[in-house]
Amino acid sequence: MTTEPQRHQRITRLAPSPTGALHLGNARTFLINWAMARRNHWRVVLRIEDLDGPRLKNDADRLAIDLLGWLGMDWDDGPTWQKADLSPYHAALQRLAEAGQIYPCTCTRKEIERAQSAPHGNEHELRYPGTCREKLSAVNYQPSADHAWRFVVPEESVSFADCFAGPQTINVQQQVGDFVVATKAGLPAYQLAVVVDDAASGVTDVVRGDDLLRSTARQMMLYRALGLGNAPRYHHLPLVLGPDGRRLAKRHGDSRIDTYRRAGVPAQRLIGLIAEWCGMGERRAMEAAEFAEQFNPAKLPHRPATLSEQDDAWLRDGRPRAG
Ligand code: GLU
Repeated sequence: MTTEPQRHQRITRLAPSPTGALHLGNARTFLINWAMARRNHWRVVLRIEDLDGPRLKNDADRLAIDLLGWLGMDWDDGPTWQKADLSPYHAALQRLAEAGQIYPCTCTRKEIERAQSAPHGNEHELRYPGTCREKLSAVNYQPSADHAWRFVVPEESVSFADCFAGPQTINVQQQVGDFVVATKAGLPAYQLAVVVDDAASGVTDVVRGDDLLRSTARQMMLYRALGLGNAPRYHHLPLVLGPDGRRLAKRHGDSRIDTYRRAGVPAQRLIGLIAEWCGMGERRAMEAAEFAEQFNPAKLPHRPATLSEQDDAWLRDGRPRAG
């Protein structure tokens, strides 16, 4: 049942990308986000982040929605799909273009790789040296297949207090340089879309994996540049890792929620394992509602959780761990 938002009610969102299946790692983040919302009477918006074109998998959006429900989560608004209406993103890009805060960029990834002055810690995030900043200017935003659009990043650090990860100071210019706000596919980039959407939904609390902690300063800059008022409170949670200490992924085997469901694993057992990972005591099957009642952010470990082979075996047969 949809209810009207109350004045001053805090608002959060579940924002799955339908780029792959929901697995134990992102399911944990969503469950914690949902539990915090239910405990604190925040409103929950479900938004499908489907702007990530080429990586989209057929029906992954429907499956993600279905699995969130199967795990026992619910929401007050949505689902909405970003692709359903691109006009708010285009309006934001036009506003930035008029203010001289974005510019078209024709550089290829290879060119940017060659221009790196120092080896970069994160192979996916190159620092853009600003090559096109002086060369190209435009006062009108046009989606284009042959150039991206980049945001003019000021030379200053952004500081904020993450509600879970603690105080942060990030220098975006040193980290990634002028970052992409619209892609060569003519689509708004993640950093821009997330800000436009969070602001439009009045989101006050963002709960997500700490792989996005680095992005937060970029998003706060866009809040300011677009005059969208205060950025939300951020709660960045540690990720779930595989037994080799790397972020849980396909290489660790199949930890997809749908695979467990097909194998007959009950949702309550998945939630029980997530609860143990959240510092809620010895694992036992539990309902999402009980998880929400018992969840205590103060007990949530600050180190990442690890999915072990024994965890997987327990999920599949429900027997206590050997030894
Ligand atoms: N769509 C992103 C994901 O599924 C989340 C983005 C965000 O929370 O800002 O990981």
